[in-house]
Amino acid sequence: MRGIVTRGVGGLYGVRLTERPEEEILCRARGILRQKKLSPTVGDDVRVELADDEDRKEPLILVEEAHGRGSRMKRTEKKDRGVDVDYVIDTVEERRSLLIRPPVANLDILFAVIPCASPEPDLLTADKLTVIAENYGIETVIVVNKADLDPEKTAEISRIYGTAGYRVFPLSAARGEGVDALRAYIRERALDAPEGGHVSGAFAGASGAGKSTLMTALFPDLRLETGSVSRKTERGRHTTRHVELWPMDMDGGIFWIADTPGFSMLDFTRFDFFPYDELASSFREFEDCLGKCRYTKCTHLREEGCAVIAKRDAGGIAPSRHESYVRIYEEQRSVPEWKRRQIEGSR
Ligand code: GDP
Ligand code: ZN
Repeated sequence: MRGIVTRGVGGLYGVRLTERPEEEILCRARGILRQKKLSPTVGDDVRVELADDEDRKEPLILVEEAHGRGSRMKRTEKKDRGVDVDYVIDTVEERRSLLIRPPVANLDILFAVIPCASPEPDLLTADKLTVIAENYGIETVIVVNKADLDPEKTAEISRIYGTAGYRVFPLSAARGEGVDALRAYIRERALDAPEGGHVSGAFAGASGAGKSTLMTALFPDLRLETGSVSRKTERGRHTTRHVELWPMDMDGGIFWIADTPGFSMLDFTRFDFFPYDELASSFREFEDCLGKCRYTKCTHLREEGCAVIAKRDAGGIAPSRHESYVRIYEEQRSVPEWKRRQIEGSR
């Protein structure tokens, strides 16, 4: 049976079968996966089988993760024969992508929600999101929310990202205006799911951007499920960021929504080891300029004869996008070499 890992619960995995997503089954990972040190991750496409006697002999390894003092991740393993389940994950299909923080595999779409006002839009953070997504091979969809508050600003932000080559949905989540267009797009993507695979997405953006309002407007069923008391208390207790995937029926297809507090504050520690000299290729609208600058080692920050700057001055690149590039580049360059090596070594 084929399925998707929708949550990890201390050594056990919640899996929803592709054929019957409304129901969740609990599984262990088969011993062979553990030998290969391949732990199933939320978002993995997996093959599930009935547990046999061999599986039942395997001790279940419970992994507990907690933030101790100084917020260092503590990992303790304890063996337990107490929990028994009827199914095992036998195979994990090859991953298309793997986000580390928050941990989720095969994420297809990152919806970057930018409010046009209240709170003030933070384009640098939005641009960091696009850079991260480009690096993981995840598609970014830009949502400019609260259009009712400032239509002009909404149009301006939409233009910036439209020019950059992103799909943009200006809307008002609270009024429900423009939400249908986004829902239609999500449905289209869901119907396009690969054979045996799935299509998933997550909403990211500053606190107060309107993510919850938008998700409720798009997926009325989501609230009911995530609002259940047991899950709420469960979430309150754990300090680690658990991702859970929820199947949303999109009228003929299923779209899997990653619901996690983690995405609201998507971690930028990855930038600690981002090779800054490769940053330019993560700005998709810079692509056709690369290799055309006067100097082969052009940093595109402020050099004479820079093709990126020329394109910006001609209106092909939004000034705010180039500004973000400069800011991120300089942040990256200031990471000391020893720290860079340390982080790269621990990867
Ligand atoms: P989150 O922190 O990103 O999940 O944001 P919320 O969904 O909780 O929304 C934050 C606030 O913005 C709430 O008071 C919402 O009612 C409000 N809000 C959300 N969408 C809109 C919108 O389209 N227009 C206006 N005017 N307010 C909105
Ligand atoms: Zn250049």
